Amino acid sequence: MQYMKFNQLPLTEPLLKAVDSQGYTTPTPIQQQAIPILLNGEDLLGTAQTGTGKTAAFAIPIIQMLHEVADKNQGKRKIKALVVTPTRELSIQIKDSFSAYGKFTHLKNTVIFGGVKQGNQTAALNQGVDILIATPGRLLDLINQGFITLKHIEYFVLDEADQMLDMGFIHDIKKLIKLLPHKRQSLFFSATMSPTILALANEILGNPKKVSVAPKQTTAEKVDQLLYYVNKANKPKLLVELLKENPDDSTLVFSRTKHGADKIVKILDKQHIVAEAIHGNKSQNARQRALSNFKDGKTKILIATDIAARGIDVDDLGLVVNFDLPNVPETYVHRIGRTGRASASGKSISFCDVEEKPLWKDILKLIQQDIEVNRTHLFADDEHTKYQKSEETKSTSSQGRNNRPKPKFGKSRSYSNRRN
Ligand code: AMP
Repeated sequence: MQYMKFNQLPLTEPLLKAVDSQGYTTPTPIQQQAIPILLNGEDLLGTAQTGTGKTAAFAIPIIQMLHEVADKNQGKRKIKALVVTPTRELSIQIKDSFSAYGKFTHLKNTVIFGGVKQGNQTAALNQGVDILIATPGRLLDLINQGFITLKHIEYFVLDEADQMLDMGFIHDIKKLIKLLPHKRQSLFFSATMSPTILALANEILGNPKKVSVAPKQTTAEKVDQLLYYVNKANKPKLLVELLKENPDDSTLVFSRTKHGADKIVKILDKQHIVAEAIHGNKSQNARQRALSNFKDGKTKILIATDIAARGIDVDDLGLVVNFDLPNVPETYVHRIGRTGRASASGKSISFCDVEEKPLWKDILKLIQQDIEVNRTHLFADDEHTKYQKSEETKSTSSQGRNNRPKPKFGKSRSYSNRRN
């Protein structure tokens, strides 16, 4: 099963050519499992996160099924497939995937999201599309204005359902479900499956086949992770230090708040380090610009909040820095999963101040891994380190002052150098 090829799946020529032109050789586990189910016309409940190849897992069969009947449809194109996803960035990425996998078909798609004027979006809709990718707010808005009807939907995908609920979209989703035709094929994806998520899935799906891939630990295991205990006030200085020492890595820095992300950009700017922030308070254009600068390598450092970073897909991401630890342990895995995609291995560095210690404990409980701690960096938090040492005698008892392991990131410094 692991080493199957795309041509062992029941895919037709235009799709096989498209995956080939993307350079894919082997379907990912979710693709291997989901594609036959979907081509068989069944509903699907998928537990999978970004980075598993789930977009292709739903886009490829939908394109194939629409393509097979495409010639029979006369007149203006009707929206037959709808993908609803929480963020603009993710919606654009999904649109790009549909374009790439549908390259050898004549199907048309478009994407709509809020925060920008609607003119270009309604113009594209008026020309007729087969596939629509949308964020919930703008979708309902354009339905209410009469630009969109969901009457002809045959395929409905709800993507990143957990994030959708976290962002407060539940009522919008419930309104949408009521507008969908009863007879349709539905797909539901979420990285996590809480009882609330499952209840929502039940409202949408018929008798779904279930697919679950990449237990969260798998992603984490591939990433070279390091922890730096640091006083809160010293976090910016430590970040500057790390960035100066890893100038060639494209680095994604996570901040818990939008305000925090902007502050980090300002601090870096004072040190002549160019960085851009991406978060919900930025205009859509500013977010897109920051993201494409980062993807193109024009900006090496992107500071992001979790919500804005959902869907960021950068091939050569060298380093993920958790400037703040996330409140939800699963988010840590999402974050570091940005690096070390596919077969590549990645690096992540997490900063932890005393107040964040319980959060780190929860993360360790989730990932079930021993994470190396850099205790010798310039801004090591002495009090915190002492406290840790008493707790972690196992890993530290053999490390004398003069026998410290060489840190992987950041230069090793003697204690007398430290300015706390
Ligand atoms: P996703 O989980 O849909 O966000 O996909 C994550 C990344 O994997 C994207 O950059 C895709 O282009 C890439 N990808 C998807 N399927 C494959 C595959 N079968 N082989 C290699 N890369 C893939």
